[in-house]
Amino acid sequence: MTNVSYSFTNHEESQPAPAAVAQGPGPAAPVESGPDPVEQARAMAGAADSLEALREAIAAFEHCELKLGARSLVFCDGAPGARVMIVGEAPGREEDRQGKPFVGRAGQLLDRMLGAIGLSRAESVYITNVLPWRPPRNRDPKPDEIAMMTPFLARHIELIDPDLLVIMGNISCDALLGRRGITRLRGQWTEAQGRPALPMFHPAYLLRQPQLKREAWADLLELQAKMKALA
Ligand code: URA
Repeated sequence: MTNVSYSFTNHEESQPAPAAVAQGPGPAAPVESGPDPVEQARAMAGAADSLEALREAIAAFEHCELKLGARSLVFCDGAPGARVMIVGEAPGREEDRQGKPFVGRAGQLLDRMLGAIGLSRAESVYITNVLPWRPPRNRDPKPDEIAMMTPFLARHIELIDPDLLVIMGNISCDALLGRRGITRLRGQWTEAQGRPALPMFHPAYLLRQPQLKREAWADLLELQAKMKALA
């Protein structure tokens, strides 16, 4: 940092600095930076050896400011033994109120979509989000918020150990694939966290763009076919 080299100038060598100078205005002491949030998240997530421990680790994580404005920590819903794990983006108002992912209008559409291929959160699907706290006024999560919460998501996936991941929407593609562009990514099997992953349009997007339900249906059939192939 520039102020570090500044304190080792010739000026200092040639004239002993009076003690008062160090406290007065002038070059500031190097600022101690706190722990790196992503590193800390990795350490906390890695130490969690059960879903309950992971939930507690997220609750104890103090670096994500979304936590301050949210009512609930929205962790998961569905069947922990499911072969399919769905990763959404972030809780909305209703999810924040109930403490469960996908329980608002988008969630109701998601349930109908899953039902159309014989899946349900009660028996065959596990659901979580990239962000466990609702962003204020549903704003998009910031890159640093996504980065610091992704280690928890990665550990969540390891603990559930599903056969297949469904990645809903751009924020989730960003967290798990490191890229966005859902219109191009959707319907193409890829790999995330060492397992097959299918990006899909987010149900909230489908509510706004109902003409895209045809593509969503094709992706659901793709998911169903993959489940059969792996059974
Ligand atoms: N949208 C999401 O991505 N997740 C939810 O839980 C609700 C809406």
